[in-house]
Amino acid sequence: MEDRVRTTISKYEMLRLDDKIMVAVSGGKDSVTLLHILTKIERAFPEAEVCAVTVDEGIKGYRDEALKVAAKNCRKLGIEHVVVSFKEMYGYKLDEIVAMAQGKELTPCSYCGVLRRRALNVAAREADADKLATAHNLDDEVQTIILNIIHGDAPRIARVKPVLDEAHPRLIRRIKPLCEVPEREIALYAYLKKIELQSVPCPYARTALRSDIRTMLNRMEEKHPGIKFTISKSIEKIRPALEAAAKEAEIKDCKMCGEPTVGEICKPCQMLRGLSIL
Ligand code: SF4
Ligand code: ZN
Repeated sequence: MEDRVRTTISKYEMLRLDDKIMVAVSGGKDSVTLLHILTKIERAFPEAEVCAVTVDEGIKGYRDEALKVAAKNCRKLGIEHVVVSFKEMYGYKLDEIVAMAQGKELTPCSYCGVLRRRALNVAAREADADKLATAHNLDDEVQTIILNIIHGDAPRIARVKPVLDEAHPRLIRRIKPLCEVPEREIALYAYLKKIELQSVPCPYARTALRSDIRTMLNRMEEKHPGIKFTISKSIEKIRPALEAAAKEAEIKDCKMCGEPTVGEICKPCQMLRGLSIL
């Protein structure tokens, strides 16, 4: 698995020898495993640096344990660990946002995902990181492709890729070194290496359509081994055509908060305004 990650990194030219890499560590098996593997790989490159960030969304009974697990793993690996919270950044915890969003169309995961992405970018920029590594695995990537199809958002498929475009100077380039590793293999690796992980699932997880897609794909994979790889490979072939078809969206500064965004007002500001927070 370590070799596969090394291959993915060089195939997509994810890293330079002297990069400062910030790893987004939630405390779950994927992100903690990524932190262990990247730390191991980067030891061979003394000019490179690995640090970690955890976003505290404010999810009672879930994030507290995850934070401890993330901090413990960072201490063990001798890595600097930054924690940023929704409360500090947006004034509200996710639990409070979910309560305010009762009756609205968006799910807790929609708010969580958009606001976390922003928080991670700001944290990486403030840490002066060159790359922001996230632990998306093969399963996550294939689920996202199917989700985008179901949502009728085909152009977004072009944007789900191993290294995200750096379309604005304030967007830290995101890389996904585990994108070619199936989730099961990560679980096995973490188990064999006795890596300490968070055990509690997020209380909001089942609200997501993603979990239905996950179940469907796992069932299909069992009957037809290799389909996740095949879907991912197919998209790799289709992506250039999709990219060419999608008009280059210009990234501007949000009129409300100044962060990079497509359009006039960024997603986080739109969401917070929808809840009458802004
Ligand atoms: Fe956030 Fe949804 Fe993940 Fe829970 S399951 S941490 S709400 S994205
Ligand atoms: Zn904004």
